[in-house]
Amino acid sequence: METSTTQGNDLRLVDLEKEFQAPDGGMVTAVNKISLDVAPGEFVSLLGPSGCGKTTILRMVAGLEQPTRGEISIGGERVNELPPYKRNIGLVFQSYALFPHKTVFDNVAYSQTLRKRPKAETKASVEEMLSLVGLGHLADRSPAQLSGGQQQRVALARALVSDPRVLLFDEPLSNLDARLRVQVRAEIRRVHQRLRPTVIYVTHDQSEAMSLSDRIAVMSSGQVMQVGTPQDIYQRPDNRFVADFVGSANFFPARVLERKSDGLVVEFSGGTFNIGSWAPGSEQSDNVLLVIRQEHLEIVPESESSVHGIVRGSEFLGTHTECLIEVGGQTALATLDSSGGIELPTEGSKVGIRFQESRAHVIPNSPE
Ligand code: ATP
Repeated sequence: METSTTQGNDLRLVDLEKEFQAPDGGMVTAVNKISLDVAPGEFVSLLGPSGCGKTTILRMVAGLEQPTRGEISIGGERVNELPPYKRNIGLVFQSYALFPHKTVFDNVAYSQTLRKRPKAETKASVEEMLSLVGLGHLADRSPAQLSGGQQQRVALARALVSDPRVLLFDEPLSNLDARLRVQVRAEIRRVHQRLRPTVIYVTHDQSEAMSLSDRIAVMSSGQVMQVGTPQDIYQRPDNRFVADFVGSANFFPARVLERKSDGLVVEFSGGTFNIGSWAPGSEQSDNVLLVIRQEHLEIVPESESSVHGIVRGSEFLGTHTECLIEVGGQTALATLDSSGGIELPTEGSKVGIRFQESRAHVIPNSPE
């Protein structure tokens, strides 16, 4: 099988839109002017809550849904008018959709048989793909004799056997239990590293997106809120939606006192901080939000910090304790390491709040 690393072998979405007829007769905009470029061999996840339009994008790329406006190109060629089978894509769905009465081998071979590929060639590539996903020894079984994780790996082998230019995944791990999810996720990562197909992966699970992707497009209400590497998305979110959706973040309204070339000097709750990381737009306003991840917010004795809070509750969770603190009228979550023998602050007690400036980030103080 050829690896998909040829130049120009990529996916491009330009101002893609999809409107559906709503039950009340009006129109619902499921996908709202989305543009996205995916490089050859790149793994891009569409991450967002239910109903944000992820599946609709995938279905339009696959040719199962016609865009209302906008363009889709695969490998430099506009494919809007092409039927699904001419788009050179592979699909892996949440439901494995295997033929129950065919063997594992025949399920994977099916598309090749339809295309009348020579038998010996089909056999060789089916065997190669089954061995790649670790199922070479189960080729003669029927799907009912396999676990959910194994069935999803058959679906992966079936998608890969045609050497697709673009591989599309729609929540492929949703039907698996937690342990299998991690296993099949590792399998997908390994197969991607080996064959380097261009991938669009739809999920609402941030850890799946973080662990698999080269880049993540975080979506809300039919729009892309930010596209970036997992590190960008986590450490340098562009807005509140992204910061909130990925990981657990605290937001503190803060005032910009000074703009320097290497940072913004901001004031909140009696403390002044020099923050070197900020999202576009936050330097234009005096009112911003200081974003501090839960795990980066420290609770210290009151005398050790100029920022103070009142403990409103705590929850022991084994590896750590979560503390709810009221700081300047906001509630914030902080993590206390349980292993260090730190005394748990009692409810109502006054504590100091501390964080490293290098771990804080500033975003505009707007609704999104
Ligand atoms: P989920 O994770 O729940 O699958 P999603 O992010 O994939 O959600 P979509 O399935 O793309 O979201 O749906 C986006 C919006 O479009 C939703 O409001 C949905 O109700 C609407 N929608 C999707 N398909 C249709 C359809 N065939 N007719 C009418 N509305 C639709």
